[in-house]
This record gives sequence, structure tokens and C-alpha cells, in this order.
Amino acid sequence: MQQAAGTISWSETQAVRLRELGGDDWLEETFATAKERDQAFARHQKELAERGRQHLEQFRANIRRPLLCRIEDALVEALTQAGFVQVVTPTIISKDMLARMTIDESRALFSQVFWLDKNKCLRPMLAPGLYEISRDLLRLWKGPVRMFEIGSCFRKESQGATHLNEFTMLDMVEWNVAMDERQAHLKAFAELVMQAAGLADYQLETEDSTVYGDTVDVTYHGVEAASCAFGPHPLDDAWGIHTSWVGLGFGLERLAMLREGGHHVKSYSRSLTFLDGVRLNLS
Ligand code: ATP
Ligand code: MG
Repeated sequence: MQQAAGTISWSETQAVRLRELGGDDWLEETFATAKERDQAFARHQKELAERGRQHLEQFRANIRRPLLCRIEDALVEALTQAGFVQVVTPTIISKDMLARMTIDESRALFSQVFWLDKNKCLRPMLAPGLYEISRDLLRLWKGPVRMFEIGSCFRKESQGATHLNEFTMLDMVEWNVAMDERQAHLKAFAELVMQAAGLADYQLETEDSTVYGDTVDVTYHGVEAASCAFGPHPLDDAWGIHTSWVGLGFGLERLAMLREGGHHVKSYSRSLTFLDGVRLNLS
């Protein structure tokens, strides 16, 4: 039921609850009286809770795996079909590996790193592991080498709708790509991933990254889904790598959120309070 607009908006607690239940579309509503507002809140909450319960029933009966995992499966399938090999490198990395990414005290990202002790941290990105393992593989394998990793990364973030402290990254790289094919391959790989994630309507935008210099971002309705970069690159030297490459890093929770038309990555992340997008404290 549509209420006549007024000057009274949701209380802080009501807005938080609407948001966590996925009722973002109603957040801008205003009311003539507090009573009307509270009645509307009760109605919305009931409807959203019912929607959540229904989804959990479907989840239990048919779906059975969270969207984050289903997207990961779809990406693994699409990437291996396209000749990418999967690697799994450690979540714990050394300070030296970060330094080789030029992430030291002078960089903002350095202050976002979770340290385990003075020399070890939780990886804020997958690139150091991929660089390290690639040095050996590029000695063994000739010609174009396509490789990817999917795994958790950790950054101290001030949270917000699109940032998590723990998120899942897909990092994919093609080594030994012909210089004049890098741009075309980047486009093809972005298309491969966005199609596999069910997101057709994306854009490529040129960006300036503090770590990689000029990069291309994949965005979807204004939200960054990935950052991509090209080599040879000044960072390569520190890893003993001397070849041309194209690399793309996607956030899987963002892909899940965008796929569902959601507004918060948290609902699709590793969580104790959400399952497959549904807030679990439903009555
Ligand atoms: P942003 O500018 O949105 O903070 P970023 O440019 O710092 O992101 P990158 O280092 O480019 O992030 O990481 C590659 C991808 O990983 C991003 O495009 C995004 O999809 C995802 N990502 C990065 N940080 C987070 C985070 N804290 N929570 C969820 N996803 C993230
Ligand atoms: Mg980026």
C-alpha cells in the first residue's frame, strides 16, 4: 500500500532493519505521521521476512549452495574450459612478498593489512602468490600460460556497502601474451567472467591504480567489479619475471551482489548472520 509522502522518515533502527532484510527500495519513503510510518515498517518487515523464509526453504530444498559458491563453480568451469589452470597459494604471506608488490609503509593499502606477527600477514591480494608460483611455472611451460586463483583476501576496511574485511578474489593472468593482443585478450577475459557470473551489462573504464599504474576497471552499474592491468610492468623485476601479460582481479561477493540486484556485499559474504543473501534473525 502506498502512503502519502510527508516529512517523517524511518528511524535509524528501522532503516538498519529494512536494509538487512533487503528492503532498500523502501528506504526513501516518507510519512505524514510517526504512526503511519510504524505501520508501514511493520508491513514491510513482515513481507521481507516472509520473502526471506521462502528463499531459505528453496535453498534447503533445491539450491543448497550459497550464490558465492555457485559463482565460484561457474567461474572455475568457464576458466578451465578456456585453458586457464587453477593454482592455490597460501593465505598467509610474508612482509617481503608485500614489499615486492611495493606495498610498504608509504602506501595506504599497507595500513589495511592484517598482521599475524612482524613478518607475516593475511594476504590483501592474490598477486604476490601468483607472481611467486609463476616464476617456476614459466621456466617449465613455454608459450602463453593461463592461470587463476580464487581465494580469500583480507583488508581492514571502513566497511560500507561494497567493502568487506574478508572477501573472495578471482585473480587471472595470461603470461607470454603477444603485446598487440593484450587489449583484446583483456576484453575477452572480462567477457568470459562477466558472462559466467550472469552479468551482461558491464563496462570497461580506464583507471589509475597506485600499485599498477594505468589499469582498466570492469564496472557494473557504477560499481567496480574488477581491476585489470598489463605487463611488462615495473613490478615484474622483483619476481624475476620478464614477459608480457594481462591480469584481471574480480571480487566474487560484488559479483554475487550485482547478480542479485542487492545493495550490500555483506549479505553474500562468508557470514554467521546471512545465508545466501538472507538475514537469519527472522522470527
Ligand atoms: P575499491 O576501489 O572498490 O576499494 P580496489 O580498487 O581497492 O577496490 P582491487 O585491489 O582492484 O580493489 O581488487 C580487485 C577487486 O576485488 C575489486 O574490483 C573488488 O571487486 C574486489 N574488492 C577489493 N576490495 C574489496 C573489499 N574490501 N571487499 C569486497 N571486495 C573487494
Ligand atoms: Mg581496483
